[in-house]
Amino acid sequence: MDNKQLLNRMKEDVVKFISLQFTDVSGTVKSVDMPVNQLNNALVDGVWFDGSSVEGFARIQESDMRLQIDPATYAVLPWSPEDLRRARVFCDIYRPDGTPFAGDPRGALKRQLARIRKQGWMLNVGPEPEFFLFKRNGPSTIHPVPHDVGSYFDFSANDEAVQVRTKLMDALNSMGLEVEVGHHEVALGQHEIDFRYTDALKAADNILTLKYTVKAIAAQHGLVASFMPKPIFGINGSGMHCHQSLFDENGNNLFFDPDDTYHLSRLAYCFIAGQLAHARALTAIVAPTINSYKRLVPGYEAPVYICWAQTNRSALIRIPRYTPGRDKAVRCEFRCPDPSANPYLALAAMLAAGLDGIDRDMMADDGLNDDINIYQLTREEREERGITELPGSLSEALHELENNGVIKDALGEEVYDTFYRAKLAEIEEHRLTVSDWEVERYLETA
Ligand code: GLU
Ligand code: MG
Repeated sequence: MDNKQLLNRMKEDVVKFISLQFTDVSGTVKSVDMPVNQLNNALVDGVWFDGSSVEGFARIQESDMRLQIDPATYAVLPWSPEDLRRARVFCDIYRPDGTPFAGDPRGALKRQLARIRKQGWMLNVGPEPEFFLFKRNGPSTIHPVPHDVGSYFDFSANDEAVQVRTKLMDALNSMGLEVEVGHHEVALGQHEIDFRYTDALKAADNILTLKYTVKAIAAQHGLVASFMPKPIFGINGSGMHCHQSLFDENGNNLFFDPDDTYHLSRLAYCFIAGQLAHARALTAIVAPTINSYKRLVPGYEAPVYICWAQTNRSALIRIPRYTPGRDKAVRCEFRCPDPSANPYLALAAMLAAGLDGIDRDMMADDGLNDDINIYQLTREEREERGITELPGSLSEALHELENNGVIKDALGEEVYDTFYRAKLAEIEEHRLTVSDWEVERYLETA
């Protein structure tokens, strides 16, 4: 869609306001809103804003930043009231001198994608964000309760959760996400909505769209939607597995080889080997909160050990079973990301890791046998197989990132510095906090 088509489309949709959106490094969606009559100028000149107020964006003395609208990302926000119809577009961020702002997370993903475009390749990603729907527990939101009693794939026609999920799927479809499936996940109150794979930039935009749409529509039903990786101790957490494949410019799947046992090409094996090799540093970006590491523990279908397998859900990378004739669907699923990640940075870092595997012609070792549950292997048995572990905390992951040039380069210096500082502060704040667990454990026994 070009600028003129965008203006026409907004007239047809009777849109009154438009939100110009971008994210900070942690993935929080920021927005500058304007009435549509201002949009013409904004499309030509961009929109200036004070970047110094956005964490990590600019120093006070060089605070002017320009938002450049990406018209292809136009979507009406279906929950906005009809008489005050609102739409949104995602934006890229530029400096006053007209160069792209290096601290823009969307820009970081675009830089990685430009690397493969030179070879005529594109990265397809199919993300699977999981989330919980909670009811408020009285006026407090601190300890919400799951709002339904369903479990994996349960169906009950009058279930309120089914009604909310149907509204969500309808809203997301209207925003161009091509929802493929929505279902109840394993845990109480937990859901998943998967949308069709698409090129990585659109997939990252779609993840943000999904998150705020789910939150807005849940709120209309008096519910709280949460993408927190592990909101409840003792049951499954929420992941955001990412299915990935590289395609050439003719739409051929470069990960497909009909003659291989797993139908994977050599390129796919190199990509997998690269992600396994960088997994410990990658985790800091794809599972970036203190809470993320409460999810990456044995026993809850989240990965802990660094290996790959077919179908086996305890492995970090899974190769979904091949359906004859569906060559384009051959892909690898990276399972440690969770929905608290900034999707642009997560996909940029994952791509850089895979490309390093290709550039250095790394070869993945044999995949893990499907009848082995890695959660049940002893440390010795894992060592015999050369299986290492993901970091056990944000602090450990951040340390790995600090020492990983490939992932740091993928972020770029400005994004990396901001991310690193923000995460150090988060770790320190957590370290100083006295938790309920500590009070229960030590108050009387110490
Ligand atoms: N909820 C699990 C996780 O944290 C994944 C369940 C599944 O395989 O879909 O990754
Ligand atoms: Mg799932």
